[in-house]
Amino acid sequence: MQKVTVLGATGSIGVNTLDVIKRHPDDFQVYALTAHSNISLLLQQAEEFKPAYVVVSGDHDSSEVEAKLAQVSSDTRLLSGLEGLVEVAKASEVDVVMAAIVGAAGLLPTLAAAESGKKVLLANKESLVVAGKLMMQAVRDSGATLLPIDSEHNAIFQCLPESYAEQGFSASGIQKILLTGSGGPFRTTPIEELDSMTPEQACAHPNWSMGRKISVDSATMMNKGLEVIEACHLFDIDTDQIEVVLHPQSIIHSMVSYADGSVLAQMGQPDMRTPIAHALSWPQRIESGVEPLDFLAVSQLSFSAPDFARYPCLKLAFDAYRQGGAMPTVLNAANEVAVAAFLDEEISFMQIAVINERTMVAMEGADADSINGLIEIDQKARSLALKAIHDKV
Ligand code: NAD
Ligand code: MG
Repeated sequence: MQKVTVLGATGSIGVNTLDVIKRHPDDFQVYALTAHSNISLLLQQAEEFKPAYVVVSGDHDSSEVEAKLAQVSSDTRLLSGLEGLVEVAKASEVDVVMAAIVGAAGLLPTLAAAESGKKVLLANKESLVVAGKLMMQAVRDSGATLLPIDSEHNAIFQCLPESYAEQGFSASGIQKILLTGSGGPFRTTPIEELDSMTPEQACAHPNWSMGRKISVDSATMMNKGLEVIEACHLFDIDTDQIEVVLHPQSIIHSMVSYADGSVLAQMGQPDMRTPIAHALSWPQRIESGVEPLDFLAVSQLSFSAPDFARYPCLKLAFDAYRQGGAMPTVLNAANEVAVAAFLDEEISFMQIAVINERTMVAMEGADADSINGLIEIDQKARSLALKAIHDKV
């Protein structure tokens, strides 16, 4: 029986994680559930899973939440804020931590899980983008197991040889990592119409149902850019060892191309319960609730190259990683602010990339090697991005 903390339990990944856990009551027990604002869903989840703890990180009235919690799950205790998140991520009773908070807000709890040697299931890609070196060092120092939930990285992990961690890229006979992406909802929209796309249109992803922030990131392909950086850290590679391939059907979740001409691909329905179940049970396999692929229904798989004029954010991510230092931290922070402003209808769709680029230029050379230094850079980038938005770029 493994005890699981789900950070971000009320989000899209959190809900899918609980759906898989529910299918295996003899293997997994929920230790803690966390939410930022959706208290009513958190209480429903507490009633169903009877965790030892729930954590609310956003503003709330503790005594009111405690009273409601007592009615649905009398043995569950309430913790609050970042402190509560970190506590349930590193608690000695916990075996597995699902890191599914969105954005840099997930950094410190995810790092706490890595430092405490947990099996960390990483959905929160932003924490690797912000502090990849420190996160990977924490995993090595503590002996934690880091398993990717992002469908592409989970696919790559499944296509790599078992000896990859010892041997690395070249000695494993790998020629390239092929990172696939659907291209989002605006793949075929005329470029001159992109700037008038609304938040609702941007969040209507053709294949995946996800939270709003990652949905907008998929439309700009910043998501793929963040994933390139995530892959560099996870697999200890450089950007020139990765090729981004557009694959609109989202059936192949990514591929590894080997020196002998073999290309291994992981395929499946676009349903996050597959990578979640894979990582929860690794190295075993368990049922996830996902139907197997029907190749006759799929019938066609197509591929093309991404166009940087359509997806300037993708290029910015390559630039940020190549510039090095804390530039990925800067880009991630600016992007979180710009996406929030787009969702609030303060800026247009194409202005997301403009804000991101301006912030990167303003913070050229930013670097830090401590977590506090990176958090300071993140804060500075946020305030510069906000200023650019208010100056009406
Ligand atoms: P979501 O918006 O649906 O859920 C986010 C969760 O984080 C919620 O539980 C929310 O309460 C919590 N949260 C939000 N702000 C917070 C804050 N400031 N402090 C603490 N908690 C906070 O997002 P999602 O789509 O589930 O994505 C979660 C993470 O997983 C993201 O990093 C995303 O990039 C990654 N991911 C998601 C998918 C997907 O299919 N949804 C796929 C791959 C990777
Ligand atoms: Mg992904």
